[in-house]
Amino acid sequence: MTAEILDGRALSRTIAEEIAQQVQAFQSAHGRVPGIAVVQVGEDPASAWYVRQIERSFKRAGMEFALHTLPADAQAEDLVGLLKKLNADERTNGIIVQMPLPEHLPQTLVTDILDPRKDVDGIHPINAGKLMQGAPDYFAPATPAGGMEILKRYHIDLKGKRAVMVGRSNIVGRPMALLMLHQHATVTICHSRTVDLPARCREADILVAAIGKAKMITGDMIKPGAVVVDFGVNVVGDSIVGDVDTEAAMEVASYVTPVPGGTGPMTNIMLMLNTLEAARRQAGG
Ligand code: NDP
Repeated sequence: MTAEILDGRALSRTIAEEIAQQVQAFQSAHGRVPGIAVVQVGEDPASAWYVRQIERSFKRAGMEFALHTLPADAQAEDLVGLLKKLNADERTNGIIVQMPLPEHLPQTLVTDILDPRKDVDGIHPINAGKLMQGAPDYFAPATPAGGMEILKRYHIDLKGKRAVMVGRSNIVGRPMALLMLHQHATVTICHSRTVDLPARCREADILVAAIGKAKMITGDMIKPGAVVVDFGVNVVGDSIVGDVDTEAAMEVASYVTPVPGGTGPMTNIMLMLNTLEAARRQAGG
């Protein structure tokens, strides 16, 4: 069997065009375009690279992008003051703060202050709680939301399927498990203390990896015909590989997200969709 590639890169281009049209419609209705503010504390190169990608995607779709940088030795009150200003700014519909923050600034500083209505990467406990409850108006973290969007656009129905989520972080594994549950999958969450991980993985109709360990999911851990979604981003030598051995997965699975070009490009897309949605809600619908 050779699996079909779930082409997140191509899909992200298609959805970006749809977003650009929706941005124009928003502008016609409200006289301005939706905008995001990105807060970066310090000069982490990986974070700076990611911020440039966000800027490019937002500007290409005709949305506003504003970068607010603070020095690595910024104090708590500097960050809190900036977030309060952005919360109050009408042109700022979405706010994200690049993580990780320098050690002396706890993440709770951000989640205590950030307006949940502008929390387009779904890190605020109110959004996490609403996601858990399946409320209609939460913002899900962009990365797992992107994985779900891929499944939706490829018409992969989760209802009644066995889904296995390997990884339980607050930004990827846990929210992805909940999103799959909302689509009526029967979900198992695995982690570093799971006993006999290969056996759990082999039960999966939908196998999702967010582990952070290069090619940890091998071909023999995949049920024939399964759908494999790989969130992993691991630098190995000069290349980036996923948490799944993609080549092996292609021999066994029915659908596979490649790395790069699978879930990665969808993260920005979901940030854009969430920002557009935030702008609509803030404008009253
Ligand atoms: P974390 O390190 O926060 O979480 C990793 C999870 O994997 C933990 O729950 C951990 O278990 C589990 N785990 C680690 N080792 C094993 C093991 N041997 N067996 C089973 N489970 C294990 O990572 P993130 O969730 O933040 O990220 C996961 C991956 O996704 C990374 O490669 C990251 O780079 C990538 N990523 C990709 C994004 C994208 O845009 N596509 C965005 C964000 C992340 P435990 O909880 O027990 O420690």
